[in-house]
Amino acid sequence: MKLLKDRILKDGVVKPGSILKVDSFLNHQMDIDLINEIGKEFKARFADCPITKILTIEASGIGIACIAAQYFHVPVVFAKKAQSVNLDGEMYTTKVESFTHKKVYDVILAKRFLTEQDHVLLIDDFLANGCALLGLIDIVKKSGATLEGAGIVIEKGFQSGGQQIRDMGVRLESLAIIESMSDTSLTFRE
Ligand code: 5GP
Repeated sequence: MKLLKDRILKDGVVKPGSILKVDSFLNHQMDIDLINEIGKEFKARFADCPITKILTIEASGIGIACIAAQYFHVPVVFAKKAQSVNLDGEMYTTKVESFTHKKVYDVILAKRFLTEQDHVLLIDDFLANGCALLGLIDIVKKSGATLEGAGIVIEKGFQSGGQQIRDMGVRLESLAIIESMSDTSLTFRE
């Protein structure tokens, strides 16, 4: 997606540890016009799928998923990263290792919000080693719902997640795939 790639080149900042900072338009301040175009693009790429629900993980995925959901006209459900007093009833749980915070945490989703009748699109901001997405895939499997695919805004193609998830047969659509990045250059996969 050219608009997104141009924005990454203009405003993305490469940090040590293979982290791309995009907090001026995606992860902290959010450019809603851009995210609107991202939502439309996800809809175009998954137009042939009978999506009934978008599933994401807190926190960064939520805003993107909500804007995309306006084009699919389906609810968004987000997996939570911690036990909360507001959660009741039966839960799906899985473990995810955070790429940015380097710790393992439980991810939970109330069973009543994902059932075997659902056709699920996963959405997240980044794909690196794939832990977040694999956790969401595990929850979908546990629910018996049909996984239609995953939409990622920025995939770091030089890390292993994308390959692993495509090898599992999951339809993965990443709007920008970074081939390599350093302090001085950033290239995309065509
Ligand atoms: P994974 O689980 O695929 O290793 O990492 C994905 C998650 O880590 C994303 O949900 C995102 O929040 C975070 N993440 C991974 N790499 C980056 C990065 O380069 N920049 C930012 N801002 N977040 C990242």
